[in-house]
Amino acid sequence: METDIAARVPQFVKTVIDVLERAGHRGYLVGGSLRDLLLGKAPHDFDLTTDATPGEVLEIFRDFRVIPTGLRHGTVTVLSDGNPIEITTHRVDGDYLDSRRPESVSFTRRLSDDLSRRDFTVNAMAWSESEGLIDLFSGREDLKKGIIRAVGNPAARFTEDALRILRAFRFSAQLDFAIEEKTLAGAKATREGLARISAERVFAELCRLLTAAAAQKGLNALVAADCVRYVFFDTVLRENRFHTLTTLPAEPELRLALLLLGDEPSAVRQLCRRLKASNAFTEKVCDLLLAAAEPLPTNLYEARRHVCRYWQAFAGGMLLRQALGEDVTKAAELCQAVAKNGTAIELRRLAVNGKELQERLGVLPVRTGEMLARLQDFCWQDPARNKKNKLIELATEIIGREKDFING
Ligand code: ATP
Ligand code: MG
Repeated sequence: METDIAARVPQFVKTVIDVLERAGHRGYLVGGSLRDLLLGKAPHDFDLTTDATPGEVLEIFRDFRVIPTGLRHGTVTVLSDGNPIEITTHRVDGDYLDSRRPESVSFTRRLSDDLSRRDFTVNAMAWSESEGLIDLFSGREDLKKGIIRAVGNPAARFTEDALRILRAFRFSAQLDFAIEEKTLAGAKATREGLARISAERVFAELCRLLTAAAAQKGLNALVAADCVRYVFFDTVLRENRFHTLTTLPAEPELRLALLLLGDEPSAVRQLCRRLKASNAFTEKVCDLLLAAAEPLPTNLYEARRHVCRYWQAFAGGMLLRQALGEDVTKAAELCQAVAKNGTAIELRRLAVNGKELQERLGVLPVRTGEMLARLQDFCWQDPARNKKNKLIELATEIIGREKDFING
């Protein structure tokens, strides 16, 4: 089996370990990259750990292109044959005071200390060609069994860093692994620490969980550990939809929208705000929800209107309905047809743009979007109206009427 791993580790990684060993140090492949290799998946990046200090690493790799990525945390990135390899000095974390950031990191020459501070057994193995697989916590067995298990005492590890609770759910979703009983119980017992994790990190983990191949597994664990309110606040999760999530493309907005369909737009916006989602993310979710809640178009005319109004979201809206069991075949065909043959006018295909409205007609920036939407409405009724002079004429008329209202 070990030779198996050796065959799967790329030469450019072995080279870096070699250089460290020839300088009298040790280097091991660790973390997610080793886990993924053992699972037969292609790692997206390669992390090494070493007993050499960051200063020593810089010296040893003086002939390589080196990026001092995070020297304070002991990380140096070395380019090996053009591939970035992160080399981090064995670390022990200091005290965790705020459920998240260790107060200090200190470096250690002992690999076992470094592996002990890692979150889950499947993430806490190390490998080098000379020493083979180093697996102090039976990570290999857990990989085979499909189990996420905390290294050491789960409650203690989650108290140190509550982000690990969310990572457990996320890995469960990404790997399609069950969370081991004591680990799940530990997460539940210490879940209050999640209140101190920044919204940005919670949101990032949520997106990774939702877009994972076994998203429902991660969400079920989130519910089982009673952690819903730390991620979704007041939103009530519709558990009967979990299993349909993965029928949707792996887009976080779309999958979140499926869970939220039926909630008030104001509640959806509030959730997005609390998660510190970007405006673009929030608007996309809201558009999807609006599109999915409209009556299904039954003819080309309605399809044109629907596509014009929800351009970015109409296809997603159809997918959402489909996920909930609605037959959208005919409506989707109608919409695809009008989108494809150009009879529905997308906002960016309007014959005028916002800048022109502002410069030529003095439309205020805050009102530009609304004006464009009106002009688009005018075109879905008759796509032949999408001519610059016609649209300018219409916009001028609207502005003139508004002035009359104000003056009269
Ligand atoms: P992926 O990159 O696919 O998300 P990964 O396992 O590589 O998965 P990273 O966040 O890149 O995850 O972290 C690399 C390794 O560092 C992990 O495998 C784990 O050993 C360790 N690690 C990361 N975050 C933590 C944490 N919060 N607590 C303990 N160990 C951690
Ligand atoms: Mg990684």
